[in-house]
This record gives sequence, structure tokens and C-alpha cells, in this order.
Amino acid sequence: MSGFRCGTIGIAGRPNTGKSSLLNRLVGQKLSSVSARAQTTRHLITGIITTDDAQLIFVDSPGLPENTKNALHRVLGRRSNEAVRDTDVVMLVMEVGRVLAGDRAVLARIPEDRTVVAVINKVDRIAHSGDLLPHLEKVSKLRAFHAIVPVSARTGRNLPELLRVLREALPEAPAQYPVDQLTDRDERFFAAEALREKLFRTLGAELPYRCEVVIDSFKEDGALRRIEASILVERDSQKGIVVGRDGAMLKKIGTEARRDLEKLFGGKVYLGLWVKVRSGWSDDEQILRRLGYG
Ligand code: GDP
Repeated sequence: MSGFRCGTIGIAGRPNTGKSSLLNRLVGQKLSSVSARAQTTRHLITGIITTDDAQLIFVDSPGLPENTKNALHRVLGRRSNEAVRDTDVVMLVMEVGRVLAGDRAVLARIPEDRTVVAVINKVDRIAHSGDLLPHLEKVSKLRAFHAIVPVSARTGRNLPELLRVLREALPEAPAQYPVDQLTDRDERFFAAEALREKLFRTLGAELPYRCEVVIDSFKEDGALRRIEASILVERDSQKGIVVGRDGAMLKKIGTEARRDLEKLFGGKVYLGLWVKVRSGWSDDEQILRRLGYG
């Protein structure tokens, strides 16, 4: 038997291939925002799986809009590239049945010398396993992949095989994180992430892209977690949308985020929310640093 293996796995792929679903299914806990919108996951999120013989550390690179005009996009772009560059393995998630220009574009950004495991997700969509072969052949021509693994994040099919393949691709090394640690981010981060997800879910297309969440304070008061957070928007009109009629929208967002956090933390949460207009914030490098993007 070979020794213990440990390393980082960068998750890459065009939007909607099922990266978040896959990560959630693998890690068994809802860590990243699952949404059809590519822009929801702005942070790098790690899920960690520890077994008897390995520790797999997942790094989620956000789906990026091509626009790199403003500072936020530039920083996100940098991070995303880092996720692909600085990991031991890149897990490239694609969809069964088609290879799109977006898949090729993501692949082109992964340097030639990287170990890339191609994951063909959503195989639950094909009725006959025979239909899979031509697609696998097509994918194999894109690049010399370390392996090509068909899976379904929805049904869980072939995920043990994917974990086996990923483990094999990692270097022999001791575990970097304590066994029960699901993420290297703290509760503060989850609070912001939960709010961000609720904002996107509740407001959908109405939500201004430049809308950010800042946790102003996070205190533990006995079993209660007291969280004060601000939602930053750019204009008064956007503030109106987020707050809603008589504050109804903000209340809904706050209530849903609080429920999620209570489940995640396993205790009561008080969540105080403010909506603030901060004109042009996404071009302000100083604020970006405060948000942890710097
Ligand atoms: P991401 O943008 O790559 O993170 O993709 P998501 O995880 O948000 O998934 C995009 C869409 O594909 C969602 O509607 C998922 O429910 C769906 N999806 C994800 N994995 C599977 C799968 O294995 N099978 C099927 N049929 N749908 C899936």
C-alpha cells in the first residue's frame, strides 16, 4: 500500500457544468452557492475530504465574466487563474454530450504542464452507456488528460472512482488540516457567503452585479452568534430594490440567510442587516482588500 496523499485540487470549468453541485456532493455539505448564475461564487472555497489514506483539498475557482474592465473582475480573474495554476491537480468539469467553445477556452487557460483530470458530469442524462463512448473519445482528443471520469453529481454515480483517481494524482504528503475541518474559511466567511447566495436567489436578474456583502461584526454571545452585515450597492435605486417595499425584501433575505446559518453553525443566530450606497465601490482597491479580494 502506498503512503498517505494530500494536496490541492482546483475546480475549473465553464458555468453550469455542475462544479458547485459536484463539490457539494463530494464534500457532503453545502459549502458553495449552487446557482445558475456564474457570478455567485466570488470567493475561492475549499472543501476538504479526509479518508484513511488521503486528504483532498478542493479549491473552487469562480466562473468569470469575460469583462475585465473593473478592479473586482481583475482581482477575480487573478484568483481564478491562481486556483488553476497553484494546485496539485486541476479537475476540469465538463458536461456529457457536448464540448462547447467555453470548455475549450477554459482548457486553453490551463498550462500544458498541469495534471488535469477531466470530469464528464451529468451522465444521468444519457439513456444508454454506449452513447458515452463517442463522447469520451472526443474529450480524449482535447488534451492528454491524466484521466477522464464520467460521473453524475446528481445521482452520485462513479464519484468513488473520481475520488480514487484524484487521490492517485496527488503527491505523497501528510494531512494539512485537522480531520473534522470541512473548510479553511471561518464562520464569518460563511455568513457573507450565505447572504450573498440569498441575494442572488431572491433578487435574481434584478440584482445589480456590483453588489457586495461585508460582515461588520461577528460576536459569540453564549450560544448566540451576533452578526452585523452591510450590503453595499452603488446607487439609491439599487438600495430600493434590495430593501423592497416596507423592507419586505431585506427581511426575506435576512430570515432565509439566518435559517441557513443556524443550520450550519448548529445554534441561534442574530443577523442585523444594513443596505448602504457606496458609489463606485467595485473600482476601489481599498474596499476590495477589506473584502478579502486583495
Ligand atoms: P456550476 O455553475 O458549474 O457550479 O454548476 P451548478 O452546480 O450550479 O449546476 C448547474 C446546473 O446543472 C444546475 O441546474 C444543476 O442542478 C445541474 N446539474 C449539476 N450536476 C448535474 C448532474 O449530475 N446531472 C444533471 N442532470 N444535472 C446536474
